[in-house]
Order: sequence, then C-alpha cells, then structure tokens
Amino acid sequence: MHDDGRYDDPRVTGPGADPVSRETSYQGWPVDDGSGGPATTPPDYHPLVHGDEPVAGGPRPTSSVPANVPPARDPHEGTGRPVNAPSPHPAPVHGDAAGPGRYESQPGTAVPQQATPQAAPDRVAGVVVPSDTPPGPGYGAEPAASTYVSRETPTREEDDPPLAMEAMRAVQILNPSGEVTMPRPDRTRVMCVANQKGGVGKTTTTVNLAVALALHGNRVLVVDLDPQGNASTGLNVPHHTGVPDVYDCLINGVPLEEVAQGVEGIPNLWCVPATIDLAGAEIELVSVVARESRLARAIAAYPGHFDYVFIDCPPSLGLLTVNALVAAQEVLIPIQCEYYALEGLNQLINNINLVRQHLNPRLEVSTILLTMYDRRTRLADAVEQDVRNHFGDKVLQAVIPRNVRVSEAPSYGQSVMTYDPGSRGATSYFEAAQEIAERGVRESVSRNA
Ligand code: ADP
Ligand code: MG
Repeated sequence: MHDDGRYDDPRVTGPGADPVSRETSYQGWPVDDGSGGPATTPPDYHPLVHGDEPVAGGPRPTSSVPANVPPARDPHEGTGRPVNAPSPHPAPVHGDAAGPGRYESQPGTAVPQQATPQAAPDRVAGVVVPSDTPPGPGYGAEPAASTYVSRETPTREEDDPPLAMEAMRAVQILNPSGEVTMPRPDRTRVMCVANQKGGVGKTTTTVNLAVALALHGNRVLVVDLDPQGNASTGLNVPHHTGVPDVYDCLINGVPLEEVAQGVEGIPNLWCVPATIDLAGAEIELVSVVARESRLARAIAAYPGHFDYVFIDCPPSLGLLTVNALVAAQEVLIPIQCEYYALEGLNQLINNINLVRQHLNPRLEVSTILLTMYDRRTRLADAVEQDVRNHFGDKVLQAVIPRNVRVSEAPSYGQSVMTYDPGSRGATSYFEAAQEIAERGVRESVSRNA
C-alpha cells in the first residue's frame, strides 16, 4: 500500500484512475472493537476501478494495463459462477486450488465417489445447468489463456498439496475414530455468525466449522436463522414448507428440541432448519413479547448439552440478527478478502455495542475469520493486513482460501469437510475450527485462574 493509502494495483495506478473516494473509501471508520479501548482509524481505502463501469471524473485507464495482463475483473465475480460451467481457461482460475478433474490422474486419494464433478450433473444448489452454458459476464471478454501472466494461472504444484499429505490430512479431518481431538469447552459457546453483507461466507463458515467440531468430538447445534435456509441445505436437512422450523420457535414458542434434526452422517451435529416461513418473522416479531430475546430463551431452555451453538444470521441487521446477538456470547464475523470487505462493518459493530449495552452485556466479538482469500491478488493481502491491524488477535491465523470445492459442496448437501476432506478448503476450515476450540479452552483457563 502506498503512503497515501492507495493499494498498489495496476487498475488504479494509471493516469486517469482517480479513485471515486466519496462512494467507496473507508471514511468514518472509527470502529469500536468491543474491547473498550479507543477506536482506531485504519488508513482510508480507495476504490479500485473495476469492471467496465464508467468512472466519474474520467475514462478508465486502459493504457496503464500491460498488454499481457487480463482485463480487470469485478472483484466480486466468481461467487455466482456456475461451478461446473466450462471455463474459458485450461488452468484453474479464481483461486480454485484444484480444478475439476484433478483426481482423475491421482488415484488413491480419499475422495467420496459421488463427489466427482465429472460424474455429477452440472448444477448449483440443485439447479441443473446445461453443460454448454456459456461463461458468465466478464469471462467472454478475457483474452486467451496463453496471454495470461503467471499470477493468474498458478501451477498445479503451487496449489495442490502433495498427494500423500492430502490423503493423510483427509483422514485427520474425517477423524473416523470419533475421538475427541478438538478440546471441548467447559460451557456451551453460543456463537453468532454475523455480517450484514451477503455472500461473505457466513453460511459456509457456520456449516464447515460446525461439521469440523462435530467430527472431532464436540456436540454442536446449528441454528439456521436465514429465511433462505442455506445452512439447512448445506447440512442436507429438510427445510421445505411445512417442516417445523426456527420460525415456530421464535413466533409460536415451540421448544427447539422439537424442531432440531440430526444431521445425517455426522453423529454429534444437529440443525434447527429455516423454512421460507422465516421471511415473515422479521415483521411478526415486532408485536411479540420479548421480541429480541426469543431465541435466547429457546436456546437456554434446550434440555440437552451442546459444546457449541452456531447461529447463521441473515444478511441484515434486523430483529432476527438482534435475536442472534442476544442469544450469543460470541460474535464470529467472516470477512471476505475482497474489495468493499470492511464497508458497513462499523454498522455491525455499532449494533453489537448497542445490544451489549442494553440487552446482552456478555456479548463480545471474539473471532474474525478471513474468507475467500485469493493469494494471487495483492488486494487480498492488503485487506488481510488491514483487518489484522484493526482487530489484532481476534483474527484467526487460519485463512480460508477461495476454493472451488467449498462452493461445490452445498450442491451435494455436504460440507467441504466431507465432500473433499483433502482439499485446501477443508484443511483451512479444519484449522480454523481447531483454533477456535483451543482459544476457547485457553480463555476458560484464564477465566478460572
Ligand atoms: P453468506 O452466508 O455470507 O451469504 P455464503 O456462505 O452463502 O455467504 O457464501 C456465498 C457464496 O460464496 C456461496 O456460493 C459459497 O459457496 C461461496 N463461497 C463461500 N466461501 C467460499 C470459498 N472459500 N471458496 C469459494 N467459494 C466460496
Ligand atoms: Mg448465508
């Protein structure tokens, strides 16, 4: 990053690439991290000029981009791309650590058979995509792969862990013995996974951390608090209309244990699903008694003991998220290592502070997880540095890379932990879960000392 706070990126360094700072710079940052200390102000962000959008104040600086560098892409693209749509590139792109087909020539790896992308229809979350689907917007305009510089097309050796190591990691992650290999906390840790931005990895993080901890001997409950029901889908828990769900608990006072369902194949994991009914809850809650603490009461009344309760929040700061914040002791904020990553975060932190002051004094932001990290971009590194500078040791050392296996897994009703346990995505979520478990134990020791 330059002294003036601008990131060193070919898309902004050229003449005429004057950032449109009013819209997108990180002004007004002062964010209270909840520690009670003075708010710090990280350097201003400046926007990257991206995509083909016209830029106020001047034309896009095409002349600054070297001829052999691909055109600037929308930093948010990739998440919506059909996972198995044909790529215009022969090599993996978008941080896809593996790329479809890598197991074809690598027998002996512990990979579930049904997980082979070639054997499965092209689909995303149940939607069948014809195999000749043209690439999405932004792809067609790219130059031939031969013109790419190496930062965009890493070699397979860089991305794939060696086979033997991968197989070993897969066994370690699946923990077939079922032993307690991640320390269990001395009391239930209720963690609210929140960020009012959509698509930052809340659900993916909830599902994969929950599965990782459950595979390693912890008893875990996932509460799906997003009307979209993505966590329920990811855990393969029925959540069609008519299935008793979290809405019944919040609005009608049905006990959680009556709606919680066991997750198939993961003995220690349960899920309270969300159906589309939940979409109305935000409004219906307004007139319900103790509307902010309905979920807290339901969790407290649960007769069984859990080591972890993960609450997957919707992408808003409405009453559903407030219910999650009141029910939790800890907030886990996934931050996508992309442009705009920190924007709006101070609003979330303000809400957390309000809930702490008025409704739940024990609430703290305990964990920040960096997701969808693409190490080929300098932007990801810059975002990581800023988040670490600002949030310090709340940020987990483990960082989740952008990995195609992670985004494929939900369409098979699986977490990446079981879908491809040797993948970088699974390994990273495993490391994050381990870190969370170990931190919890350290903190309880210091609490009791
Ligand atoms: P949120 O719950 O915050 O809206 P999701 O967890 O649903 O975000 O993630 C948004 C999209 O990004 C999903 O399609 C998901 O599969 C994909 N995704 C999440 N994490 C990764 C990752 N590490 N690598 C690749 N894709 C990811
Ligand atoms: Mg979600």
